[in-house]
Amino acid sequence: MSRDVEVAVVGAGIAGLATARALAGEGRDVVVLEQFQLGHDRGSSHGATRIFRLAYPEAEWVRLAQAALVGWRELERDSGLELVSLVGLVELVRDLAESSQQALASCGIECRVLAAREAQAEFSLRVPDGFTALLQPDAGIVYAARAHEAFRAGLTIDEGIRVTGIADLGGVVRVETSAGPLQASAVVVTAGPWARPLLQTARIDLRVRPTRETVAYFELRTPEPMPAVAEFQTDAHRHAFYALHDPHHGLKAGLNGSGRPADPDKNEDPDPGIVEQIADWVSMRFPLERPDPVRAETCLYTNTPDESFVLERHGRIVVGSACSGHGFKFAPVVGRRLAALAEEAPA
Ligand SMILES: Cc1cc2nc3c(=O)[nH]c(=O)nc-3n(C[C@H](O)[C@H](O)[C@H](O)COP(=O)(O)OP(=O)(O)OC[C@H]3O[C@@H](n4cnc5c(N)ncnc54)[C@H](O)[C@@H]3O)c2cc1C
Repeated sequence: MSRDVEVAVVGAGIAGLATARALAGEGRDVVVLEQFQLGHDRGSSHGATRIFRLAYPEAEWVRLAQAALVGWRELERDSGLELVSLVGLVELVRDLAESSQQALASCGIECRVLAAREAQAEFSLRVPDGFTALLQPDAGIVYAARAHEAFRAGLTIDEGIRVTGIADLGGVVRVETSAGPLQASAVVVTAGPWARPLLQTARIDLRVRPTRETVAYFELRTPEPMPAVAEFQTDAHRHAFYALHDPHHGLKAGLNGSGRPADPDKNEDPDPGIVEQIADWVSMRFPLERPDPVRAETCLYTNTPDESFVLERHGRIVVGSACSGHGFKFAPVVGRRLAALAEEAPA
């Protein structure tokens, strides 16, 4: 490989694809370089669904999610695919003050407290004693695999090519790849859990920590999609267990942030101890066809200390790290922001 492009995007996860689409929409000559084949399950973006929610306990995140929803609806219009299904989200909290109620109200977004018997009658969801359920109707799921398909339409994507080094030479960026070098006016690194070592080759220190998270799938007795459910940790504005609709099996569930530090180049199995904890929680909350999961898999988080995203430019190199387990829903706005940063790179 030896060619010049305006912008090279490293990584065809959801962040890279959204960025490349935004750049292509601005008429830029853009190539996406992906080390594996599209649709692989080694990073963070695979699987059928992710939670989409406006519900965040902080108003800034609520507003960002509102902007993302506008972006998803535009992508739905362009692609003809249904990408977001608003089946609702229920937050389970011990103290309503820990929920997203105030932040949602301050942004004018509907939410309401559900009595335990209402949650049972409307959604077959069991609310445990001592918990309050807050329903946010304009939430639910984003269809992850379909979102990939929608973002990548018409893009130039080179699969099976690993980027091994990046150097901003001033005027141009030299990109070393497993298929030879190329030059670009700007490079966007959306390499997920691989980003830190790659950016070190460009002397950029990205302080993130990859962990391998386990998720499990269950069959439900109810045919209707359940609302997504997020149960909060005590005394922390953080999700602990969560569950969401899965179109193949019925329910996907996990324990947020329970994964061990991970080397993304190693393939490791789901953690059986976590699967057991997830299964116990799911069987206490949901109407299951059978208590055991039908399957389990892993997925990598790329964690920042406060779950915020890193979206920044260093000369001609743009860094996009939007994970900590909640970045998928923001892909349309993250992609536009990273594209705008790439366009600001010095001429
Ligand atoms: C278990 C789990 C549950 C989640 N649940 C939710 C949720 O409910 N809602 C939500 O909004 N978000 C959720 N997320 C987070 C969301 O999935 C991530 O924020 C998002 O997928 C991150 O995408 P990415 O493109 O940054 O990274 P990735 O998907 O990891 O993409 C990085 C890509 O770069 C490629 N790459 C890396 N290095 C190189 C290289 N050197 N050369 C070429 N290619 C390279 C990789 O192969 C990969 O394809 C969850 C994540 C996990 C793991």
